[in-house]
Amino acid sequence: MIAVFCPGCGTSDADRPFWKIRDQLWFPNRCFQLVVCTRCGFVYLNPRPDDEELREYYPGAHYRLVTLPATLPDAYHWRFSKIEQRKVSGKLLDVGCGEGLFVAFALKRAWDGYGLDTSPEAIEAARRWLGDRLS
Ligand SMILES: [Zn+2]
Repeated sequence: MIAVFCPGCGTSDADRPFWKIRDQLWFPNRCFQLVVCTRCGFVYLNPRPDDEELREYYPGAHYRLVTLPATLPDAYHWRFSKIEQRKVSGKLLDVGCGEGLFVAFALKRAWDGYGLDTSPEAIEAARRWLGDRLS
């Protein structure tokens, strides 16, 4: 894990705990700490996994979905409920979109969705339902 500066304002000494999250997929004994910057309000993961740790969470073989699920996965209900409390349509960018399921369901809900991921395997998988809506 590596400590990071606030992506919003660049400060390194103004974060406070915001939300502790347990990994729900690969390593249930590992936790992550979201912090909020008291200077600019940006919420971000700190510390965050380094590149080697990230590869443990996102192995290339992880992206093997063949068909888009017919219904919204339970994990996305909460995300959409939080987002749509503030806005019900518009542009949406999923940074770290994986195989693009969240964006695919956002498109079904009238969002103009796009995805971004660093994994070539994820991008290849996401192109099946997102076409050129990712990079
Ligand atoms: Zn900040």
